[in-house]
Order: sequence, then structure tokens, then C-alpha cells
Amino acid sequence: MYPAQFDYHTPGTVREALDLLGRYGDDAKLLAGGHSLIPAMRFRLAQPKHLVDLRKVPGLAGIKEEGGMLVIGALATHYAIESSALVKSKCPVLAATAAMIGDPMVRNMGTIGGSLAHADPAADYPAAIIALGAEMVAEGPKGKRTIKADDFFKGLLTTALGADEILTEVRVPVCGPKVGCAYLKFPHPASRFAVVGVAAVLTVDAGKVTKAGVGITGAGTKAVRAKGVEAGLQGKALDASAIQAAADRAPDGVDVQADLQGSEEYKRHLLKVFARRSIEAAVAAVR
Ligand SMILES: Cc1cc2nc3c(=O)[nH]c(=O)nc-3n(C[C@H](O)[C@H](O)[C@H](O)COP(=O)(O)OP(=O)(O)OC[C@H]3O[C@@H](n4cnc5c(N)ncnc54)[C@H](O)[C@@H]3O)c2cc1C
Repeated sequence: MYPAQFDYHTPGTVREALDLLGRYGDDAKLLAGGHSLIPAMRFRLAQPKHLVDLRKVPGLAGIKEEGGMLVIGALATHYAIESSALVKSKCPVLAATAAMIGDPMVRNMGTIGGSLAHADPAADYPAAIIALGAEMVAEGPKGKRTIKADDFFKGLLTTALGADEILTEVRVPVCGPKVGCAYLKFPHPASRFAVVGVAAVLTVDAGKVTKAGVGITGAGTKAVRAKGVEAGLQGKALDASAIQAAADRAPDGVDVQADLQGSEEYKRHLLKVFARRSIEAAVAAVR
């Protein structure tokens, strides 16, 4: 189906884009890579009267390191993140996560900001973003604010971003020495979206976990922190039984939902399996 008619705007600055959002309110939608919004428009699930394309705004797609953080522009494509030497060396799990998204066309067009703002419950980045303890920078009419990953995902396709705000940056702590990280998912065979996905970021010292970040996607209506797994790993020596015991807590506190991909029971099982595999992969990757 063709999308409903709309006016197309190409602001040259964030300020101009914010002005357009302010002028058109609920009738306006931001466009980034278009790989979630355009399909929704073609199904007439979204019918914005004004499309505000961010791709002509300079400076929104860079990737740099600043004060122990990777600063990734919201318009950085999945491919830019997957292939960035900086991301691969400072935060390999994020490059690996980007590389698992969809297919080459999706990765060439889709952006990290679009993916996070869209908040698809089966998207890949959110698990890694939560496990890493990243922060999102939003700009709105009143200026900039920073939103922690734990506070960002609010529900199905819903985030803490206001309708008058633009996600401009994602700030990710670099993975230092003694840190190992991994993201693994059970991909849907057609779309490659995560039926479930688990990211683990572990700091390991003298064979024991001193800090654990574990994020889950796909299981419910939004990505969440796997607090049970984190608590199960904290201070533990990493033998097989400790890893299994921690992984078995993956569904704890998660509002697991049955959907076309599987029953609640099946998804709970997948969560435990992928939590164990992600922990094992993170341990193997400790530097
Ligand atoms: C065939 C196919 C397979 C896919 N497979 C996967 C997969 O395996 N894993 C996965 O994670 N994703 C997958 N995706 C989704 C893909 O990653 C999208 O690119 C992503 O969800 C949206 O990013 P975008 O840049 O295309 O955003 P758009 O589609 O342009 O926008 C999405 C939403 O975010 C808003 N938005 C965009 N940018 C901003 C911003 N900077 N600030 C505030 N709001 C903003 C828009 O207004 C819109 O509501 C797939 C998509 C397709 C079509």
C-alpha cells in the first residue's frame, strides 16, 4: 500500500528540526533510516502529515571516544557501528550486536537512534544498551537531557522521549580491562529480529564476577535488565554450576509474553538457554 499523503521537511540543524516538531506537534514524525517508520506508513499504521527527515542535519552520525565513553550519533547506521574500528576495539559487543540486525540493506539504512526511539520489543540494541549501562542524550525545546538506559524503555514501542524531543546521541561506557561482553539471540528465521536476545557485560577479577550487567530483549513488551541473573553472578566464581544457576534466573521479574513466535513457557526456556550462552561467551571474551 502507498503511505497517506504527507509534507516532507529537510531541516539543516537540530534547532530547525525541533522548531518543525513544535510547529506541527502530533502531526509530525521524525525520519531517520525509515526501516521501521516507512513500513508502518505503508500499512497506514502511521499517517504523519509532516515527515521531518534528520538525515541532512550534519554532525548527528559521528562516532568518537570522549572521557571514557563512546559517543555515537543517533544517525549512525547499524553498518557504521558494526564496521567501526573504534567500536570494535572499545565496545565489541555493540559492533557485534549491530552486525546481527536484519540484513545488509537494513543495516545500511537503519540507525541506532531510530532503533532505540522506535523501541521494538524484539530489537537487538536495547539488550546491549541496558547491559552496558548506556545513556541517551535527548534535545528538546528546553535544551538537552540525559536518560539512563534503565529509564528509557517504557513499554511497547514507547520510550521516555517526549514527542517534542530528538534523540541526538548514545553514550556508551567503554569496556576496560577485565571486562568481557557478548550478545546472543535466537533470531526469527525471516526478519532476524530477536525471538529472545540476551546481552552480558561482566567484569571478572581473580576468577570472580565483580560487576555484572545483563539485558534482555524479545521476551516481553520492552527490553529489561535481568536483575536475577546479575544478582546470581555477583561475587561468584565462574564454574558451570554457578553460571547455570544464574542463567536459570533470567525470567525472574520479566513480564514474559506469548506471541506468534512462541508460548510463554518456550520463551522462558529460551531466556535461560541464551542467558547461559551469553554469560559463557562474555567470560570467554574477558580481556
Ligand atoms: C526486514 C527488516 C528486518 C529487520 N530486522 C531487525 C533485527 O533483526 N533487529 C533489529 O533490532 N531491528 C531490525 N529491523 C529494524 C531496523 O533495525 C530499523 O532500522 C530500526 O528499528 C529503526 O531505525 P531507523 O533509523 O530505520 O528509524 P525510522 O524508521 O526512521 O524511525 C523509527 C521511529 O523512530 C523515530 N525516530 C527516528 N530517529 C529518531 C531520533 N533521532 N530521535 C527521536 N525519534 C526518532 C521515528 O519518528 C519513528 O517513530 C528490521 C527492519 C526490517 C525492515
